[in-house]
Amino acid sequence: MLEPAYQADVVVVGAGVAGLSAAHRLISAGVTTAVLEAAPCPGGRMSTDKVDGFRLDRVGQLLSTAYPELRLTPGLNALVLRPFAPGVLLHGDGRHHRVGPPANTRGARGALNVARALASAPRSPSLPRGRSGGPLGTAVDQARLGAALARFAGLPVERLLARPESAAGPALASRGLPTRAVEGFLRPLLAALLCDPELTTSSRCADLALRSFASGRLCLPEGGAETLPELLTRALPAGTVRTGVRVTSVATNTVTTAEHGTFRCRAVLVATDARAAAELLPGLRVPRFHPVTVVHHTTDEAPDTGASLLLDADRGGPVAHTAVVSRVDPSRAPAGRALVTSTVLGTPPPNVDTAVRAHLARLYGTSTSRWETLAVHHTAEAVPSMRPPHDPRRPVRLLAGLYVCGDHRDTSSVQGALHSGHRASAAIIRDLGASGSLNRADPPRATPRPEPLAPAQGPTESAEPAEPAEPAEAA
Ligand SMILES: Cc1cc2nc3c(=O)[nH]c(=O)nc-3n(C[C@H](O)[C@H](O)[C@H](O)COP(=O)(O)OP(=O)(O)OC[C@H]3O[C@@H](n4cnc5c(N)ncnc54)[C@H](O)[C@@H]3O)c2cc1C
Repeated sequence: MLEPAYQADVVVVGAGVAGLSAAHRLISAGVTTAVLEAAPCPGGRMSTDKVDGFRLDRVGQLLSTAYPELRLTPGLNALVLRPFAPGVLLHGDGRHHRVGPPANTRGARGALNVARALASAPRSPSLPRGRSGGPLGTAVDQARLGAALARFAGLPVERLLARPESAAGPALASRGLPTRAVEGFLRPLLAALLCDPELTTSSRCADLALRSFASGRLCLPEGGAETLPELLTRALPAGTVRTGVRVTSVATNTVTTAEHGTFRCRAVLVATDARAAAELLPGLRVPRFHPVTVVHHTTDEAPDTGASLLLDADRGGPVAHTAVVSRVDPSRAPAGRALVTSTVLGTPPPNVDTAVRAHLARLYGTSTSRWETLAVHHTAEAVPSMRPPHDPRRPVRLLAGLYVCGDHRDTSSVQGALHSGHRASAAIIRDLGASGSLNRADPPRATPRPEPLAPAQGPTESAEPAEPAEPAEAA
């Protein structure tokens, strides 16, 4: 049974990155907090299996150095981000083309770099007439695409969120960009960034994803996806996270668990995935989800693509993106072995491993028949879909005392999950600030308590107080 010692001002339900980051902010503000997690360990979807010296993510995680919450979240100071080679490597017309912004594309100089990088992408001399420039089209096409990406890098988030909204696929076609660059580069890139092969995502969220791509570097967390929740958990006071505790119902001042009874608190934050949140909070919408399959192979001879993320401009097989991730993050494979991680979006084909191997052989230009399959992870409800209209700042305060966070309240990404935890903890701190903590646990002195505000009034679906200063940013 949960002991009274575990009673707290706030109970957070779910120890994914959203719940853990919210717990950090609450505790830093002097609010006693307990996190109850149903699974045997924290982390939620961000988990990593250790097999024979390999570190195998269940998620095909692509982070961006431009995600603000990776810098802002307390507890993530020690996070090491391993960048991919700048931009992406496109496979099209039977060869590789490097595309995209080099490092540091912030500001006018960075925007210029984007255009230059694209304009100088290698063009194939041996292509049939009319197809020069491969998947990016002609030099003029490339310059136009570069200028468009540069504009994304420089646009404020609020401007992007104020644009008219439709599905990303049709919106791309109507942006006046060269068709070859849209089909051969932007579509496969956005599908990879949004885990959405059909590009049904809101065009605003797609714009945010392009902005992150153009203004930062794609990267992986060193050590695997689980590094983020591990760092967050380790930096919390011992005993804050209680695993193996399934919550069966919540109210503004009580939480009932399957095997540990009911206990009282002053506020509850539901930080589960969207489906579990809707079970605990009837009335919450359950979104559609994008399925994702991640396939890990090992070989003793790494393909020669270096630390690049490889996309298929021709979309000639099931793989949406692939990389020799041991080149990006050497900690993921034992010495002398290469780890190749590939992501399949949507419903995977039958015999997915065979289909993936055949596609990888074409993409890397090498035989894969002797590669060893380490794992095939399929997640049916991997990321909530963000079809239009999509509000990337869904209310996180449902009632005074009842809050909700998770990627389904924001953008379907690590950035979105962390940002929703940021917003929810700010709302709780404001509400609790009026009367102070019941179970104060010597808060860290460096963090001032927030100014008291008037207690909230009754049920208000969208009565969330003001946002934290940092803007949202997408997948
Ligand atoms: C295959 C895959 C690929 C992805 N690719 C990317 C990518 O490239 N880039 C990117 O940014 N993001 C990606 N994501 C998304 C990213 O991983 C998620 O957005 C993020 O991890 C969500 O965190 P969360 O805290 O909101 O939810 P979760 O991680 O789902 O955490 C919720 C927690 O709540 C717990 N819980 C549920 N019900 C209960 C209950 N009743 N009682 C107690 N605990 C409960 C769960 O066990 C879980 O630990 C991917 C996800 C997957 C699965």
